[in-house]
Amino acid sequence: MDKENIFDLISIGSGAAGLSAAVYAGRYRMRVLVFGADFGGYTSIAGPIENYPGYKEIDGFDLMLKMKEQAEALGTTIKDEKVVRVERQDGCFVVTTEKGDAYSAGTILFATGSEHRKLGLPNETELTSRGVHYCATCDGPAYAGKTVAMVGGGDGSVKGANLTAEYAAKIYIIVRGQEVRAEPINYEEMKKLIDAGKIELIMENEVAQIVGTNKLEKIVLKKEYKGSTDLIIDGLFIEIGAVPRSELAKGLGVALDERGHIIATPMMVTNVPGVFAAGDITPLFGGFKQDITAAAMGAVAATSAYQYYKTNGNLCQTHWKVSGEKT
Ligand SMILES: Cc1cc2nc3c(=O)[nH]c(=O)nc-3n(C[C@H](O)[C@H](O)[C@H](O)COP(=O)(O)OP(=O)(O)OC[C@H]3O[C@@H](n4cnc5c(N)ncnc54)[C@H](O)[C@@H]3O)c2cc1C
Repeated sequence: MDKENIFDLISIGSGAAGLSAAVYAGRYRMRVLVFGADFGGYTSIAGPIENYPGYKEIDGFDLMLKMKEQAEALGTTIKDEKVVRVERQDGCFVVTTEKGDAYSAGTILFATGSEHRKLGLPNETELTSRGVHYCATCDGPAYAGKTVAMVGGGDGSVKGANLTAEYAAKIYIIVRGQEVRAEPINYEEMKKLIDAGKIELIMENEVAQIVGTNKLEKIVLKKEYKGSTDLIIDGLFIEIGAVPRSELAKGLGVALDERGHIIATPMMVTNVPGVFAAGDITPLFGGFKQDITAAAMGAVAATSAYQYYKTNGNLCQTHWKVSGEKT
């Protein structure tokens, strides 16, 4: 392997966890490579962030650009590429990207976050981006003056509804349970929009069918709402949580919990030597998935990776010499 492609730490993930780790590892003078299939992760599409210390309000994408700039200034290489394979060879990790390029590192950080949970209904995939969406910040502006429904009773759904209210004429929030669980500041904003007649809550109900041929035409609810199970809407936003992206880690033998999160110690160490995890991919901090917790975990993971590196050196240097290739 070309010496240029051998790193001390590879982070799979360029969200808050991966970039924070890169900042710390860069200051430890480790040679760092960060991969991100979607630069900046969820934060890039989260819209305004009002709870990251140091910024009263900052756009999520801008926040991630600032983290990128800081990591790059400390020597990190960032590639907006998807990793498709990770293998362990004599304590050296070999990472292969979608383009077929290979890189190696003595330590690996899984900062892979999660992906949107789907309803799992017929038509959902076919009508994705044709009326069915998973990101209100990205696709909400397309519904100016229209009627949309937000599925989910959590903070993501409420924040999405509040944002979409800037454009849409009417927003229904469909909640399966008996309560809406949003951050108080987002909840208060939603209440104001309910009072203004912009948002309507449909409680203890669910989407039973997604109807449409080439684009969404309506949804059918499980139970009647105002005398009908049909709800005519232009857009459906599904905000029902996330599924951890842990397949690559699983392939390396990294232990997962029953929901697919990577199990890590409070020092972000996994069961596989040289492998660390940080951010939404772990169940730590009581599952409190925010930028500040992801960044904190990234910082700790980099510190643990550095401890491992100081003790073991970069095992890739030995591995590639042993296998007789140029280093
Ligand atoms: C709509 C919304 C609003 C939010 N609002 C806020 C808020 O106001 N304040 C706040 O603090 N938090 C907010 N959050 C939560 C916050 O965005 C997350 O907690 C944070 O993004 C977690 O960071 P992470 O680095 O762990 O994961 P992510 O940000 O999900 O990043 C994961 C990274 O891994 C990459 N990746 C995964 N698999 C691969 C692969 N195979 N190859 C290459 N790259 C890969 C992805 O491309 C991405 O770069 C919000 C989230 C959402 C969805």
